[in-house]
Amino acid sequence: MAATEPPPIIAVIGGGPAGLMAAEVLSLAGLQVNVFDAMPSVARKFLLAGRGGLNLTHAEAPGIFVTRYGGRRAEVGRWLDEFGPQQLRDWAHALGIETFVGSSGRVFPHEMKAAPLLRAWLHRLRAAGVIFHARHRWRGWDDEGALRFATPSGEKKVGTDATVLALGGGSWARLGSDGAWVPLLAARSVAVRSLRPANCGFNVAWSEHLRRSFAGTPVKNVSARLMAPDGLVTSREGEFLVTENGVEGNLIYALSAPLRDAIETTGSATLNVDLAPGRELPRLTEDLARPRGRDSLGNHLRRHAGITGVKAALLHEYATPADLATPERLAAILKSLPLRLVSPRPLDEAISSAGGIDFAALDENLMLRALPGTFCAGEMLDWEAPTGGYLLTACFASGHAAGRGVLRWLGQVHLVINDAGSDE
Ligand SMILES: Cc1cc2nc3c(=O)[nH]c(=O)nc-3n(C[C@H](O)[C@H](O)[C@H](O)COP(=O)(O)OP(=O)(O)OC[C@H]3O[C@@H](n4cnc5c(N)ncnc54)[C@H](O)[C@@H]3O)c2cc1C
Repeated sequence: MAATEPPPIIAVIGGGPAGLMAAEVLSLAGLQVNVFDAMPSVARKFLLAGRGGLNLTHAEAPGIFVTRYGGRRAEVGRWLDEFGPQQLRDWAHALGIETFVGSSGRVFPHEMKAAPLLRAWLHRLRAAGVIFHARHRWRGWDDEGALRFATPSGEKKVGTDATVLALGGGSWARLGSDGAWVPLLAARSVAVRSLRPANCGFNVAWSEHLRRSFAGTPVKNVSARLMAPDGLVTSREGEFLVTENGVEGNLIYALSAPLRDAIETTGSATLNVDLAPGRELPRLTEDLARPRGRDSLGNHLRRHAGITGVKAALLHEYATPADLATPERLAAILKSLPLRLVSPRPLDEAISSAGGIDFAALDENLMLRALPGTFCAGEMLDWEAPTGGYLLTACFASGHAAGRGVLRWLGQVHLVINDAGSDE
């Protein structure tokens, strides 16, 4: 009887790293896989990530790696057990893409680009029989449970045996992931936490002078410290960029989750920036207390504290005349400049999204409990991580897990059919 059954038809919707990895797992198992994507071509955000060098993953020890997923480390850790950073590097190697570990432990392809990897991968997927359907925007289901797609030639309906949704988060909508799936799933009783910016910049109420003179200027060699409303202190060293509207860059992205959460709780967040991290407060105070003579304050700061340019401008932005007049207060504010962040930049500008499908809505196969046969993967799930290769690693790993989940579920379905048959 099984021999006459047509093979199951699988739809993967969303051709980013998560969807393509699910398609690969399923096609390798011999299933007929159709990948649908709203855009004229797949993996546009992945290609954009390649412009920044394509930080694929990180070489730190697995026990540390998994902590980068914070409160979701248990769930993400299960995906990584099957397909973690080393498996990802081996997989890239099998596609002819060698990787290397940078000085910070970040892992990149030798060519520092996504295009060669994507090209080789799509070639292999097509050779394995995966069929791609571009310009197919998923619109939900019809009353019979068929998938509805908006296409250039009108609405198309597709019936499947299993579907993997890998529609991404809500940033950089012009590359395809626009979060329009949220109401479609919410209408089907799937719990979705609202999408919020992660690894994002923040708005600061700069003075006109600072904005005009310093927007686009990096603030190098600083450290920053945040005390969250619950008293937890996080600090980082590095650099950030002053922008028209506020601040962005690696140092800010690294602190963006607690900064965003603090703003959500208290309405704003104060980041204490140390503009002179190499100098101890008592020594700095002593140096600044030296007689100024006829020196301007700018010269005095440059000579005795190494503070010039944008750092001096930031000081003037926050210091009162009394701070500037007293060496103790001047040193104190240079060591702990209270940068007040008023709101995150819009989700569309963020590197990634926090929020997404609640893990409670998913079973251990990443199948939606409310919609048997529909699986989910990638950034559309409710986890977040800093930059450093953790985002792509979890997207690939969850795509792998969802593909395996479909295989297990189809196995179970067939088992049930066969059991039912043998009972008759
Ligand atoms: C500028 C930038 C740089 C980055 N650099 C890195 C990096 O170096 N390292 C790293 O780890 N991460 C990086 N990231 C993050 C990483 O690219 C994403 O986390 C990852 O691409 C998410 O993968 P995904 O498969 O879940 O979703 P996506 O890559 O967003 O893919 C989702 C796909 O679904 C399609 N889609 C959406 N809605 C529909 C619909 N209704 N119908 C049909 N198709 C639909 C989209 O067109 C898209 O192709 C970067 C992100 C940005 C913005």
